[in-house]
Amino acid sequence: MTIQEKIISLRVALNSHNYNYYVLDNASISDFDFDIQLKELEKLEKENPQFFDLNSPTQRVGGAITKNFETVVHKNRMYSLDNSYSKEDLLDWEKRVQKVLGTTETSYTCELKFDGASINLTYQKGQFIKAVTRGDGFQGDDVTPNIKTILSIPLTLDGDFVSNFEMRGEIILPIEGFNKMNSERVAKGEEEYRNPRNTASGSLKLQDSAEVAKRPLDCLLYQVVTEERKYKTHFESLESARKVGFKVPKTITIAKSIDEVFNFIEKWDSKRHDLPYETDGVVIKINNLLQQEELGYTSKAPRWAIAYKFKAEQVATILHKITYQVGRTGAITPVANLVPVQLAGTTVKRASLHNADQIEKLDIRVGDVVFVEKGGEIIPKIIAVDFSKRPANLVATKYTEHCPECYTELIRTEGDAKHYCPNEFGCAPQITGRIQHYISRKAMNIDGLGGETVDLLRKEGFIQNYADLYDLKVEQVIPLERMAEKSAQNMIVGIEKSKEIPFEKVLFALGIRFVGETVAKKLVKHFKSIDNLMTATFDELITVDEIGDRIAQSIIDFSSDLGNIQLINRLKSYGVQLEVSAESLENQTNKLAGQIFVVSGVFYQMSRNELKKSIEDNGGKVSSSISKKTNFIIAGDNMGPSKLAKAENLGIEIISEQDFIDKISKE
Ligand code: AMP
Ligand code: ZN
Repeated sequence: MTIQEKIISLRVALNSHNYNYYVLDNASISDFDFDIQLKELEKLEKENPQFFDLNSPTQRVGGAITKNFETVVHKNRMYSLDNSYSKEDLLDWEKRVQKVLGTTETSYTCELKFDGASINLTYQKGQFIKAVTRGDGFQGDDVTPNIKTILSIPLTLDGDFVSNFEMRGEIILPIEGFNKMNSERVAKGEEEYRNPRNTASGSLKLQDSAEVAKRPLDCLLYQVVTEERKYKTHFESLESARKVGFKVPKTITIAKSIDEVFNFIEKWDSKRHDLPYETDGVVIKINNLLQQEELGYTSKAPRWAIAYKFKAEQVATILHKITYQVGRTGAITPVANLVPVQLAGTTVKRASLHNADQIEKLDIRVGDVVFVEKGGEIIPKIIAVDFSKRPANLVATKYTEHCPECYTELIRTEGDAKHYCPNEFGCAPQITGRIQHYISRKAMNIDGLGGETVDLLRKEGFIQNYADLYDLKVEQVIPLERMAEKSAQNMIVGIEKSKEIPFEKVLFALGIRFVGETVAKKLVKHFKSIDNLMTATFDELITVDEIGDRIAQSIIDFSSDLGNIQLINRLKSYGVQLEVSAESLENQTNKLAGQIFVVSGVFYQMSRNELKKSIEDNGGKVSSSISKKTNFIIAGDNMGPSKLAKAENLGIEIISEQDFIDKISKE
């Protein structure tokens, strides 16, 4: 055997022992013998550096330090899941799905919903390439060195699979491992970790991968994302993935009807506490992959999947105090401070009370015994007061009249559930909050500047608004606490780079009340520049698709404020993008104005998303189901038969992918 052959055979053997132990839970070698083989491989690799391989089992012990995790744009967006809470919800979902597909022949997979941190693993030609966190769904952090230390994740695949793909899964911390970590911390006099989920996701961002290697993390896989149409069903793709090395939970089950789905749900709702890890529900997916493609995505979640949430756990505790928080828009949120209580694995001390109406509705008073519930959200909710336990002398709650931060009198406009502090430019959390929003990832994505630094810069009097960021100088910030020269420079570079951020993100970043990401996109598409937007009348604004009175009024209020006008002028003078770039205007036409398209089937020249974008760029609209209003159906292969019949019935013109391409390229 040559040295190279020896090295390869050791790698294969060690990989297979890892697989047997960590994926199949069935050890094929003693720890002692495993270590001997690993040491031997290490030695051979060291003596023969020409055979180095990043994916060798020796590369999994950790040791690499990452100071800044690189941001990576996902090749395929990582979506959320829509939620359901009852059999009725599921039946509604089935109805919607079958309507889009134009068939009642649907079958499902049921999987447990794992509660951890989602991860996207890229593989090419059987080799692990990189691991990226979900982030905001569009882009996440490259955490490759940390992920490599998780031994159930294969670095080299064993057998035939698709060649280019992403594997999606959840990084979890099994309960036993979590408890062990906590008892070690207690023994060292350190504070306990709050719950497995947060600890798992925190672990991914540790700088020292050797530290990650010590944590008993695991990775459960649930989705193969690929353009290669090798497998017909989701189930098949996962079964094959398991064979080549991935830890795909055996609990995945095919269901032929919603009744069968419900059997699965009921079984696991009672058995879930016996599992070695936490689960908060079930994920139901359409099994047929062509049908998945056909169904596509809404702006936030796949149409072909839905989560079912198990009933949240409840617990009783005492309301100790109500405090108030001010958000970046000046909105006031009342917060219930509770006598700490254990709930679903975490200690709960605070719960949101939403607004004055909610307080009134609950009739909640300081001293009351209250029921707290924890759903998927981080902040628990108060469900009800236990009136049978109310002491006789409790005082009715009076909502605060003044801002807890600046003591300005609060206002509440008609039809608005929230109270606001109107002191927009003088109320500290509003100032800080607006700048923090401006620099955040989904907005201007300014690297090198964090939320705490913003607060510090404001306290020091360097910034009062987001335009001030562009006047900051390296020399000014270096003397600040915790600010090294390098980080000061990074910050200034990050701010400078934000001048390239496209207008739609800038508009979102401005933090105009009710103008979220989607609304900002719609406005940019219609108005093209901040000047057009700020001079638009109320009537013009409400003619825009999905812009109602409330949003329109908020834009008018923003635009007529002198302070805002000055801010915008300053941003302009610094070169921030306040109009659609000439380049992206070029690709946009009005050729399809007023026309509504339904896209159905499988396509070959363009991806479904490219098709949709192209329709929108050319002024058309995309709809997900066929109706009388539909003008064209772009039909690919495999379009559902009853959909076709419906289209023909309504006399809607059916065109091919090529017809569409001809249509938009024609002058
Ligand atoms: P949510 O964050 O509530 O919108 O739920 C979506 C997340 O559920 C995904 O990002 C995944 O990380 C997670 N998830 C857990 N288990 C599964 C599963 N079996 N299939 C799909 N997603 C899952
Ligand atoms: Zn205030």
